[in-house]
Amino acid sequence: MDRQELVASLLEVLAKERVLTSVEDLALYGFDATADAAAHRPDVVVFPLTTEEVQAVMRTASAAQVPVTVRGAGTNLSGGTIPTHGGIVMVMQRMNKILEVDAENLTATVEPGVVIQAVNDAVAPFGLIYPPDPGTVATATMGGSTAECSGGLRGLKYGVTKHYIMGLEVVMVDGQKFSCGGKTVKNVTGYDLVKLFTGSEGTLGVITRLVVKLIPAPEARRTMLAVFDELDNAGKAIAGIIAARVIPATMEILDRTTCEAVEAYAKIGLPTHAEAILLLEVDGMPAMVEQEAQAVERVCRQFGGAVQVAKSDAERSQLWAARRACLPALARKRPTTVLEDATVPRSRIPDMLRALRAIAARHGVLMGTFGHAGDGNLHPTILCDERDAEEMVRVHAAVDEIFKVAIELGGTLSGEHGIGTAKKKYMELEFGPVGVDVMRKIKNALDPHCLLNPGKLVDARA
Ligand SMILES: Cc1cc2nc3c(=O)[nH]c(=O)nc-3n(C[C@H](O)[C@H](O)[C@H](O)COP(=O)(O)OP(=O)(O)OC[C@H]3O[C@@H](n4cnc5c(N)ncnc54)[C@H](O)[C@@H]3O)c2cc1C
Repeated sequence: MDRQELVASLLEVLAKERVLTSVEDLALYGFDATADAAAHRPDVVVFPLTTEEVQAVMRTASAAQVPVTVRGAGTNLSGGTIPTHGGIVMVMQRMNKILEVDAENLTATVEPGVVIQAVNDAVAPFGLIYPPDPGTVATATMGGSTAECSGGLRGLKYGVTKHYIMGLEVVMVDGQKFSCGGKTVKNVTGYDLVKLFTGSEGTLGVITRLVVKLIPAPEARRTMLAVFDELDNAGKAIAGIIAARVIPATMEILDRTTCEAVEAYAKIGLPTHAEAILLLEVDGMPAMVEQEAQAVERVCRQFGGAVQVAKSDAERSQLWAARRACLPALARKRPTTVLEDATVPRSRIPDMLRALRAIAARHGVLMGTFGHAGDGNLHPTILCDERDAEEMVRVHAAVDEIFKVAIELGGTLSGEHGIGTAKKKYMELEFGPVGVDVMRKIKNALDPHCLLNPGKLVDARA
């Protein structure tokens, strides 16, 4: 089937205004938020409104043997929505209904195109929250963040997306659909297919409906800023707070390069002389919050940190706005931002911070580091220029070393950004050849002609 025939078949199942083919539209859907990743044009972009339309698109793609790249908001940082093999980009943003908030069972049922913040807005009147909180909470979709298994700012205490996905409806590559999981907290019937599809990066099936877990909103919270003269001491304070048996809802680190960039960008009075700052929040019942905040302050001071407590909601919002500005602020410094999310056990954070400094110095690259320090999920961000071939050789050598060190420290290639295209080559470091082969067999069984997001996560046939 050639491109014209493909478009004609899609027009038989979707309204004309939801099938895009202009050069401008195709260019727009050829890239995503990932830097240092080549764009590829799809042949056609479609916007289904219902599960039935998704099924029809998949049946058309299967019949034509054309690849399909499923896309939410395209904010992933691993090249996950770049249509590397052309074909169809299927954008899920218009399937954006919140179908139900079930306050009795503490669940919400939503379509995949619902933005994460919209779920929180819908459940807030019931005194509930949906905890996963990536930096892109106001733009990223429920389907995309589930397929990526996003983490974010509250992972330390509340866990990540996979801990909140209770049920899914999925359309398979041939257009058949099925549901797994549901509203029951306990469910051990068969293989855990909900977990298999969560984090599958659009390579196994298309998520068309989600049942998510909600929890009661915390009654009280305290937000603190701790300023350190030594990066190493900030690392020790992170480990010390956990060792003191306090699990903050959020414990974020910004190194000096990041602080300077954020302050230049947002001008909110962050210290630019400090080697590192920690942004911390404890939440829960008021008495517990008081106790935990005191413990956090004590540990930070023990390691030389100067602590300020946010005195109002406005001050709190300003601190979190600063954290969410890290990536855009760093991105202003050089044309290309290569951001990684290798993650280590939290006790190894001081080692990882030291290693990152040494790697940056050894390869002569400019690196800012920020991230979710409490769960060992740092974001070393190399600021560079992809047009400078010599510099990019050094950047890629530094990235190789970051992954190697993370694995040596007992960590993982990706804490939350997924594998996509760029990290695929490192998979054997973590899983060995047998583990990678198990993944390949799953992919081959569910998508035998490798039509769903080809080139991502794992190569289909060995
Ligand atoms: C400034 C910035 C800050 C960020 N901060 C964080 C952070 O703190 N924590 C974090 O974890 N991530 C973060 N991210 C990464 C990104 O925002 C998250 O991964 C996000 O949740 C992806 O959602 P999306 O809707 O944009 O998905 P997309 O990028 O559109 O898609 C992500 C993956 O899911 C697949 N997919 C999309 N929809 C479906 C579906 N319905 N069915 C099956 N597969 C599907 C795609 O094929 C792709 O592989 C950040 C990104 C940016 C740019």
